[in-house]
Amino acid sequence: MSDKPLPPPPPGLASMPPLPRPPPPMGSVPPPPPGLPPPPLAQGALPPLPPGLPPPPGFSSSPAVAPPPSMPAAMSPSMPPAMPAAMPPSMPPLVTVPAAPSAQPSPREPSAPPPQAPVRKLDAVVVDCVRRTRTVTSLYLFVGDPGPYRAGQFLSIDAHQFPELAHWLSFLEEKKGKVELPRAYSMQSAPGEKCVSICVEAEDYDPRRGAYPPLLSPFLAYSALKGREIEVTGFAGSYVIPDDIEQATDQVLHLVGGAGVVPSYSILKDELKNAKHARVRHTVITVNRRAADAVLREQLEALAQAYPDRLQLVPLLTDEDAAGALRGQLTLELVRKHVPAPATVRAYVSGASITRHDRQAAREQGVEAAPRFLESASALLDELGVPREHVKREAFG
Ligand SMILES: Cc1cc2nc3c(=O)[nH]c(=O)nc-3n(C[C@H](O)[C@H](O)[C@H](O)COP(=O)(O)OP(=O)(O)OC[C@H]3O[C@@H](n4cnc5c(N)ncnc54)[C@H](O)[C@@H]3O)c2cc1C
Repeated sequence: MSDKPLPPPPPGLASMPPLPRPPPPMGSVPPPPPGLPPPPLAQGALPPLPPGLPPPPGFSSSPAVAPPPSMPAAMSPSMPPAMPAAMPPSMPPLVTVPAAPSAQPSPREPSAPPPQAPVRKLDAVVVDCVRRTRTVTSLYLFVGDPGPYRAGQFLSIDAHQFPELAHWLSFLEEKKGKVELPRAYSMQSAPGEKCVSICVEAEDYDPRRGAYPPLLSPFLAYSALKGREIEVTGFAGSYVIPDDIEQATDQVLHLVGGAGVVPSYSILKDELKNAKHARVRHTVITVNRRAADAVLREQLEALAQAYPDRLQLVPLLTDEDAAGALRGQLTLELVRKHVPAPATVRAYVSGASITRHDRQAAREQGVEAAPRFLESASALLDELGVPREHVKREAFG
């Protein structure tokens, strides 16, 4: 399967004013899908962050974990008070001033973070929906000119715009006693592509993990949204390759579980197809339970074939044997084998993580929340000796 059958945008749409919203259609909410537990992984607690040197160019000393969008405590203090229901907390304010360039950095100083384009609302038309796995669908959005964004960033979608979800929203907001915030979705597309695209995994309802069914992801992943107008807000996030990465390393490791591969795919397309940072090679360890769960597998294989000197794929399946994939758990030995220089490698870790709901539920049972992909993979990198300030993390919750 090629990355995307990109249908042409609706004729003349770029120059047209936004169309009026269609009247609220009558529709039913798809039932929560049957569940897939996260892939089992090596377990490990995250040791405390050691005091360290200043972070290297482009890498923050605090992990780039974007908090789950429903986490009001993490809301940016600079966010205008009227905004909270309209954007996830990890997004910068709707209009931001790009960061001023810093003074000439000395070798010990981190470089300035890349300037962030202002976050804005975009009227989009869903021009295609492509099912990737049983529970995962790519949505291709035509937005005219999306403005600048960086590979690996995310956009957000507010469920309040969908009349089909209105009764769910009323129910959940009343039960939870708070407004449902927009959900974040990593870019599947890379800058320069005709459409922006995202890849949504329908969460399942697991009463052991949360009292409520998931709201938006089953709707986006299972509904026939082709032709639908939607509003998205973008773009934000620091899960990006710094411009000066070549000064820091010659290897980027992507350690990704399930749909966590999405921002890495965006980054890989940008780095390889757009011939960026030619000295840097990428190693991608994907972890899935079964071959049929491997999101964007064929697309990644095509990239690896086209750029064999720059991309190495290491597909790992925990629950079945399949041609071309390793079988087993994610172990220190496996990661070590592919990372010759742990002290200098830059790592991008993305996938399911412990949510505050998980922590709360565990607290109530008097136990520790079980590590999920992000925590387990991060613990392995700690064990391997990869400095924490060299690791970027995207927590899908
Ligand atoms: C930066 C970032 C990038 C992301 N990128 C992607 C991506 O590319 N693809 C993707 O599929 N997902 C991505 N996500 C995850 C996505 O934002 C959503 O969290 C996900 O789709 C689930 O949203 P939902 O509305 O379906 O579920 P939610 O309604 O948010 O529910 C999720 C879970 O939390 C539980 N829960 C919710 N509220 C409560 C509560 N009050 N008490 C107890 N339990 C509760 C539910 O029971 C359920 O198990 C990303 C997240 C972040 C932060």
